[in-house]
Amino acid sequence: MTTSPHGQGIWEERWHPLREEWVIVAAHRQDRPWSGETVPHEEQQIPAYVSDCYLCPGNARVSGAINPTYDGVFVFDNDHPCVGLNAPANLAPATGINKNRPATGIARVVCYTPRHDLSLAQLQTVEVENLLTAWQKQYRELGSRDDVNHVLIFENKGEVVGVSNRHPHSQIYATNFVFKTIETEARASARHYQQTGRPIFQEIIEAEQTDNNRIIAENQKSIAFLPYFARYAYEVYVAPKQTHSSLADLDDSEVQDFAATLKEVLVRFDNLWQMPFPYVMALHQAPTDDGDHRGFHFHVEFHPPLRIPNLLKYLAGPEIGGGNFLSDTSPEQKAIELRSVPATHYSVKTPHE
Ligand SMILES: [Zn+2]
Ligand SMILES: [Zn+2]
Repeated sequence: MTTSPHGQGIWEERWHPLREEWVIVAAHRQDRPWSGETVPHEEQQIPAYVSDCYLCPGNARVSGAINPTYDGVFVFDNDHPCVGLNAPANLAPATGINKNRPATGIARVVCYTPRHDLSLAQLQTVEVENLLTAWQKQYRELGSRDDVNHVLIFENKGEVVGVSNRHPHSQIYATNFVFKTIETEARASARHYQQTGRPIFQEIIEAEQTDNNRIIAENQKSIAFLPYFARYAYEVYVAPKQTHSSLADLDDSEVQDFAATLKEVLVRFDNLWQMPFPYVMALHQAPTDDGDHRGFHFHVEFHPPLRIPNLLKYLAGPEIGGGNFLSDTSPEQKAIELRSVPATHYSVKTPHE
């Protein structure tokens, strides 16, 4: 464990260059890092097909549409969109300082596989590549629309983040506005690029490679690390090494390397506590407005809500009340935990078992 000069845990503030905010790291208060026991839990048998799952092949959805008997990635328009082309246009006028506008946009669902029982971590690398290709297509198609200024692709995984249907899938919100976090990152990236001629994310990667104690996975064209300025205990970024403003700009070999690194991170997450690891995963891609986003470096961010098994990171006074994160774990220590578990998924039985 990286320690302060006094041999205590880390107690300092770290600057988050993409969000442009301070993170308080108060890891000195935890005496011991979590020591590696797993949570006893029943590994229920989950069927490969569930007749009342609205995402399984051949099933009916609430809209009355029938899913095709798909065998790879399947994309459809969300039946309960939060933004939609037919959102109400005639709104009650807002008073004074308040303003409103129609919630136009496009919301889609992306099923990863017809298999109800698998997770992204359990897909073959080639299936992850196919998913990345599908996301590329979505970004290009939706992002090229005049009425779409940003394409947010994300996955919520696990009951603790409110997922009731475990059929592996992500969602897409193509919106008329740029989501706040992306807006901040785009502004920070553009300013840094103007001032230095370098993408800020290249400097982040460089610092991670120099410190070399928070890297979780790496190959020729991609890298995953638990950033120096992480807000969540097991926050991990996955990125191509070359700067591309979106996933859509990665070439085939970059997609292959990215898929392998993404899968390795997912497997390490699951292996940590030998359970499906809950997270919010978001693709951070440049806005599709008319801005100059040459300095924007596409990456995937994982925000796992658990600090230790069955214990959520509670967002309270500092986070909700003040807007900055208080982390009581050390990124360096958490990176050691993720690196120390096998890179083969625990559900894959070896011939000896
Ligand atoms: Zn299903
Ligand atoms: Zn980001």
